[in-house]
Amino acid sequence: MSQSTAIDEMRFLFQLGCDVVSGKEVGRDVPVAELTADFDAVFIGIGLSDTRSLGIPGEDLPGVTDALAFIERVKGRDKKLANSSKSTVVIGGGNTAIDATTQSVRTGAAKVVMAYRKGPEDLSAYDFEIEHAKKDGAQILTHATPVRILGKTKVEGVEFQDAKGKKFTVEADRVIKAIGQTKHFGLAKAFGLAQHDDGRIKVDAGTLETSKKKIFAGGDMVNGGKEVVNAAADGKRAAWGIQQALFPGHPAPAECQYWISTIDGRKVAPIKPRSGH
Ligand SMILES: Cc1cc2nc3c(=O)[nH]c(=O)nc-3n(C[C@H](O)[C@H](O)[C@H](O)COP(=O)(O)OP(=O)(O)OC[C@H]3O[C@@H](n4cnc5c(N)ncnc54)[C@H](O)[C@@H]3O)c2cc1C
Repeated sequence: MSQSTAIDEMRFLFQLGCDVVSGKEVGRDVPVAELTADFDAVFIGIGLSDTRSLGIPGEDLPGVTDALAFIERVKGRDKKLANSSKSTVVIGGGNTAIDATTQSVRTGAAKVVMAYRKGPEDLSAYDFEIEHAKKDGAQILTHATPVRILGKTKVEGVEFQDAKGKKFTVEADRVIKAIGQTKHFGLAKAFGLAQHDDGRIKVDAGTLETSKKKIFAGGDMVNGGKEVVNAAADGKRAAWGIQQALFPGHPAPAECQYWISTIDGRKVAPIKPRSGH
């Protein structure tokens, strides 16, 4: 989504009369108890958390960064990124790793190697994204498990082990970790919500209400990490769930009937004939 579209969406929210509080973390700056006391219903859409750590020596060296922080700089058009790395190693095999790989090429790194610990058949990145990355000039290594990050005062390379246990080194001045994100266990616990074994918040599939009445959740935190369209659909489903919880037996206003009818794909948008047809 372009930045101007995102701003337009925010303007629309303000027009509806919504308040937006930014720069505050629920559970740290805003107590959970305050939210549940002050509001009739709460929707939690906190997404996934930070990138997991590799747990290998050298991970704290300057030059090691996580993919989300790197992509945030790219999206923020940080001019300092241009040509800031001659050779980059991206560790991971999903779409985040592919994003970091293609963006590394586009920000000027002459050599970009994406290294994944399993085989090519296990890469979870989309095939067309992998092909794009290769066309961009990136090299994709599979069966490459990182063993340690090399360097004294900053990153100089990564030592890997292949499927046969043989060690090899790839030189690099930047290492980007893209090995998946952890989940916000803490906040779900603070709300006292039931969770799946992997940390996802449990919800009712129809209303997205959690194990606690009038607390709803959706998006990556619930589905484990999908796409924007899934999170947006959850927002819509939860809004309808909240309406039903707060005003039981009251139908939604007539102007909302159409979008309610589209929840769960039960109906599709009416197609208006184009002029001239
Ligand atoms: C690198 C990358 C590339 C992607 N590319 C695509 C793509 O091309 N197309 C696509 O459809 N999807 C893409 N996705 C997936 C998409 O970003 C997510 O599925 C979607 O953003 C999930 O929406 P969400 O609302 O659940 O969470 P998020 O979008 O992650 O939003 C959660 C928000 O909650 C805030 N938050 C967290 N904790 C707290 C707290 N305690 N208090 C207050 N606020 C808090 C966070 O700061 C964040 O702003 C990509 C994801 C990644 C990581």
